[in-house]
Amino acid sequence: MIYQRSSALFKDAERVIPGGVNSPVRAFKAVGGTPIFAKSASGAYVYDEDGNRFIDYINSWGPMLLGHAFPPVVNAVIDRAREGTSYGMPTKLETEIAELGVSMVPNIDKIRFVNSGTEACMSAIRLARGFSQKEKIIKFAGCYHGHSDAFLIQAGSGAVTFGSPNSPGVTQGTAKDTLLADYNDLVSVQRLFKANKDEIAAIIVEPVAGNMGCIPPQQGFLEGLRQLCDEYDALLIFDEVMTGFRLAKGGVQELKGVDADIVCFGKVIGGGLPVGAFAARNEIMDVLAPSGPVYQAGTLSGNPLAMAAGLEMLKAIKLDKGLMNRLEEKTKYLHQGMADVLDRHNIDYTINRIGSMISVHFCTEEVVDFKTAAAGNNDTFKTFFHGMLNRGIYIAPSAFESWFITDALSYQDLNETIAAVEEVAKEL
Ligand SMILES: *Cc1c(COP(=O)(O)O)cnc(C)c1O
Repeated sequence: MIYQRSSALFKDAERVIPGGVNSPVRAFKAVGGTPIFAKSASGAYVYDEDGNRFIDYINSWGPMLLGHAFPPVVNAVIDRAREGTSYGMPTKLETEIAELGVSMVPNIDKIRFVNSGTEACMSAIRLARGFSQKEKIIKFAGCYHGHSDAFLIQAGSGAVTFGSPNSPGVTQGTAKDTLLADYNDLVSVQRLFKANKDEIAAIIVEPVAGNMGCIPPQQGFLEGLRQLCDEYDALLIFDEVMTGFRLAKGGVQELKGVDADIVCFGKVIGGGLPVGAFAARNEIMDVLAPSGPVYQAGTLSGNPLAMAAGLEMLKAIKLDKGLMNRLEEKTKYLHQGMADVLDRHNIDYTINRIGSMISVHFCTEEVVDFKTAAAGNNDTFKTFFHGMLNRGIYIAPSAFESWFITDALSYQDLNETIAAVEEVAKEL
């Protein structure tokens, strides 16, 4: 494959954009080389500026559950744009998508729309603190909740390094209110509650972790968090920015039968436009301005183009009875195909999978938390990544990312992917 135009475009970008990208995960820092520049995308494929076609397993990092340029979403955006792109006044579209969201997700009465997953999580924490009148939060090493200050403490994928806070610019004062626990380790959570009695406003967790590879919660983990929150009068926040409307129509609350107090959304809920949202029961949501004192706002929040895209996306997901099953079957097929190949080539690997999320780790140990995710062989991953890319398969340029399976993928695409793994396995 030739990446000539992408390389040239990256040089241009580097002159005027820090690192040449508007989000660090798009750079190829962890794998070497220069990012490829997208030109267009359709269904399961993304096309770059050099004219290469890739089977896409990133899918805009999650939103494209139904494939790129999904016609109902594209048409809705075009139609809405003709009516004006923003008013700063409420529209009935916002109520429609809110009603649909509330009808799909268990245990929520009201939902507030924002512009990104970061904003959703940041606002959810403020709401939890305002509601509980407590200040500290618990997060898990390797979980990512966007780039706001309180969360840049061992934040997985994009921000992986050790030490806390792990970005300059985050104050010690902020960092001290974020307590760190280990994923799938209830004892580590219990210890924090015991040491900080009456101070913990909330636990925020990816109920299926997707930012250190894909790590499902072990039996009893989410139930245990629920119990600890009840015991210590803290709120449980599920960050379902990645998993919401993906792992089940009602997200992980539905999938695992565990209720959260506040749920955060992003990615799929915007159908590929900049959208985030957070939702909860009335008693919590009514603390938010203008009903209550906790302030939160946005000039472009509930933007009509974004709401139109999200509405079509959620409608399509709600109406398609077979969708979640098809996604799971495709993901399972890919898992088995890749596992067969890697077994035959005697390569050390662990594959994690749940629903339409899957990740390949080059280690033999079970991957259950940040530490075990970090144990994978990154040199093997780099070779794997570039090998796949050169064969037209685009996976995330980091070993700490989940792959996202879309319904647009055909079994032919999956077979092509498995055939590419077969070739690349010879180089590992
Ligand atoms: C992507 C993601 C975010 C951040 O969303 P942005 O829209 O990138 O700000 C937050 N939490 C989780 C779990 C995510 O995967």
